[in-house]
Amino acid sequence: MDKITIAIDGYSSTGKSTVAKKLASKLGYVYVDSGAMYRVVTLFAMRHQWVDDNHFDKDTLISRLEDIDLAFHFNSEVGFAEVYLNGENVEKEIRTLDVSSFVSQVAAVPEVRTFLVKKQRKLGEDKGVVMDGRDIGTVVFPNAEIKIFMTASEQVRAQRRYEELKARGDQISFDDVLNNVRERDHIDSTRKQSPLKRAEGAIDIDNSYLTEEQVFSEIMDLVQKAIGSKN
Ligand code: C5P
Repeated sequence: MDKITIAIDGYSSTGKSTVAKKLASKLGYVYVDSGAMYRVVTLFAMRHQWVDDNHFDKDTLISRLEDIDLAFHFNSEVGFAEVYLNGENVEKEIRTLDVSSFVSQVAAVPEVRTFLVKKQRKLGEDKGVVMDGRDIGTVVFPNAEIKIFMTASEQVRAQRRYEELKARGDQISFDDVLNNVRERDHIDSTRKQSPLKRAEGAIDIDNSYLTEEQVFSEIMDLVQKAIGSKN
């Protein structure tokens, strides 16, 4: 059966990765979390102290991008591919609020985007991929058979992210999470290169009051139609 490409874009914490993982697992496709890739580059910059609250040395980061060996390795215990930076599993570390607070600045650097988009296209070159992010349907795979644009209210999104971080044991306040969600959305949708926006032909899904199952079956219906029309 022909494989297709599924691109899921949207604001922070709209539930993109949850549904993307579920789709990939059901279809036997590869799931790629493109946000994790931007987070890895950010962690790399933070560890070298090229980015902090007071400064961001983008030129040095740009000159050292090729030192980043970024890889995904499937972990059967969790059921998805975890991300590695130069051989180290950084799946947990990249999800901290600290990394979240710098990632949008790093992701706005055109050279960082070019570096990662090349890798993303490579990961999806054989189709059979579900990728989520901010520019997957607009830039990375503009010809994806299925493009989804996910939204949800700011409060719902911040609450979800807050619960996720609390469950991991992070000491954070709801207001800090809400501010981070707002700030990232603002930077992501106003940056010059590849701003977050609805791709042409994308289907909107407002996930504020839908269950995971409802979102999943809505997209699965689209997948059945797309695969059906190819065979
Ligand atoms: O998806 P996640 O929230 O983990 O993404 C973290 C950040 O990475 C986003 O806020 C955005 O700044 C950046 N990003 C991006 N383009 C993508 C995926 C993520 O700019 N395709």
